[in-house]
Amino acid sequence: MAPSNAPATPAARPRKARGEGQWALGHREPLNPNERIKKDDNPLNVRARIENIYAHTGFAGIDPQDLRGRFRWWGLYTQRKAGIDGGRTAVLEPHELEDEFFMLRIRIDGGSLTVAQLRVIADISKEFGRDTADLTDRQNIQLHWIRVEDMPEIWRRLEAVGLETTEACGDCPRIVLGSPVAGVSTDEVIDPTAAIDTILERYIGDPRYSNLPRKFKTSISWLADTPYQVQDIAFLGVDHPEYGPGFDLWVGGGLSTNPRLAERVGVWVPLNEIPDVWEAVVGVYRDYGYRRLRTRARLKFLIADWGITKFREVLEKEYLGRTLLDGPSAELPEKPIDHIGVHKQLDGANYIGAAPVVGRSSGTQLGKVADLAQAHGSDRVRLTPYQKLLVLDVADDQVEPIVSGLREIGLEARPSAWRRGTMACTGIEYCKLAIVETKARGEELVARLEERLRDFDTDISIHINGCPNACARTQVADIGLKGMLVMNPHGEQVEGFQVHLGGGLGMAQGQTAGFGRKLRGLKATAEELPAYVERLALRYLDGRTPGE
Ligand code: SF4
Repeated sequence: MAPSNAPATPAARPRKARGEGQWALGHREPLNPNERIKKDDNPLNVRARIENIYAHTGFAGIDPQDLRGRFRWWGLYTQRKAGIDGGRTAVLEPHELEDEFFMLRIRIDGGSLTVAQLRVIADISKEFGRDTADLTDRQNIQLHWIRVEDMPEIWRRLEAVGLETTEACGDCPRIVLGSPVAGVSTDEVIDPTAAIDTILERYIGDPRYSNLPRKFKTSISWLADTPYQVQDIAFLGVDHPEYGPGFDLWVGGGLSTNPRLAERVGVWVPLNEIPDVWEAVVGVYRDYGYRRLRTRARLKFLIADWGITKFREVLEKEYLGRTLLDGPSAELPEKPIDHIGVHKQLDGANYIGAAPVVGRSSGTQLGKVADLAQAHGSDRVRLTPYQKLLVLDVADDQVEPIVSGLREIGLEARPSAWRRGTMACTGIEYCKLAIVETKARGEELVARLEERLRDFDTDISIHINGCPNACARTQVADIGLKGMLVMNPHGEQVEGFQVHLGGGLGMAQGQTAGFGRKLRGLKATAEELPAYVERLALRYLDGRTPGE
C-alpha cells in the first residue's frame, strides 16, 4: 500500500471540470469561431453594412464573416448552388456549396398577416425571388433567389406594411409561434397576442438578447395547436382552479440530432407577466447557456444537466427576484390541431384552413390568395406551424366560393390525409446542409398515395427531412424520414431516408408525446419511398384494431 503522504498519481488527481463557455461563470472569451463572430461585432449591425456597402458591391464584396455569420440575423442565408449532389455536402467548403443568391426568411409572428402584407410578400417574391415562396413549419414565408443588391428595397417594402426579417435566423429569439386562430377560436379562453406583440416590441432587435448561445424558439398559445413540446420556451393555456386562466410554462424542448421534449416548470403565469418571464428565461439561457460547442448550446442541454428544480430556482432568484405561483398542467388534445377545413369563429364568421402540398407555394399563388380573400370580404390570413394557410372572417355565404377559389389555385380545404399530414423541409434544392431532395419527393409521394389510397381514413403525419437536422420535425411524425445516402440493390450509393416510426405530439390523458423509433436497419431509397410508405399504410390498415 502506498504511504499516505505519497504524491497522488495523475490518474488519481481530481479532474478539473471543463468549462462550457458559460458567461455567468466568467467565460467571456469566445471558444469557437461562431462565438468570435458574435463578439467581434453585434450581428444586428450588419444591416447597415448591407444597405450602405454590400448592396453596392454585390455578392463579391461581402466579408465572409458577415456572409456566413451575421447575415442570418436579418433572415439571410446563402443558397445552395444548383447541381451539387448530397454526397458532396460534407466534403465541400462552404463557398464551394453556395451561389450568389440568398434565401430570405420573413418573420410572421403568430402566423398573422393582413391581405396587404400578403400582397407585398407576393410581389417581392415575383419581382425579386423568381416567384418562389415556401410556407415553413415555423409560420415564416421563405423566399429564394434573393440578391443582396435588392435587400434595401425589399426591407423598405416589407417595413412599410409592418413586416420584418429581424432575427428571423441566427443565435437569437426567432419568430414567436402562436395559434393561427388566436382571437377568433371558440375554444380559446385568453388570446395571448398582446404578449407576443410586447415581446416583439421590447426584445426583438434588442442587442441585449441578440447574442444567445444558439437559436431560441418560442411558442405562445392558449390552444395546443403549435408544437410547443419542441420549443426552447412555450406558454400554453391552462385554467388554474384558484387564479383562473393563465399559462403553463414549458422549457428546454428541441429536436435536431439530440431530441428532447420540453418540460413543465410547474408554474402558472398570467397573461400580463408573459413578457417578463420570457425575458427572464432568455436571460438565464444567454448567461448560463453553453457556448463551447454548438452541438451542446441549445437550452435543452442546460435543462438536462440542471434539472427543472435548479432551473426554476435560478430563474426566480437571479432573474425575476420573486417566486412564481405553482400551477397545474393544461388539458391536452389527443392529437395536434391543424385547423384544416371550415370552422366557426367566435363572432359567427368562419375560418378556412387550406393545404398546399408540402408547404410549397409561390408569389403568384399568394397574390391570388390575397385577391380571393379580399374579393370575399376577408382582410386576414394566418399561417400555421404545419405549412398550411388559413383565411379568416369568412361569412357563411362566402365559404363555398372561397373553398372552390382556393382549390382552383392549388390550395385544398378538404385535402386527403396524405396532403394534410405531409411536410417537407427545404432540402437539396436550396439548403447547403442537405443530403437529399425533399419538396419534389414529398409532392411525388403525396400524388402517388392519393392515387393509390385515396380513401385512407386516418390522420397520418409524414415529415421529410433533407439531413439529420430535423427542420421538418422528423422525430415527432407517425412516419419520419431523415435524408441520407443509402445503398440501392445494385450496391450504388443513392439518395434515401432512414425511417422513424410512431412519433407524435398528441398528449391526451394517458398518452405522452414521444419520438419515433429510429429503426437502424429501416432505410428506403428515395426511388422506392412511395411504394414503401404505401406498404406501411396497408399493413397498418390490415392490422388495426376496431376503433383504432
Ligand atoms: Fe436543410 Fe437539413 Fe434543415 Fe432540411 S433538415 S432544411 S436539409 S438543414
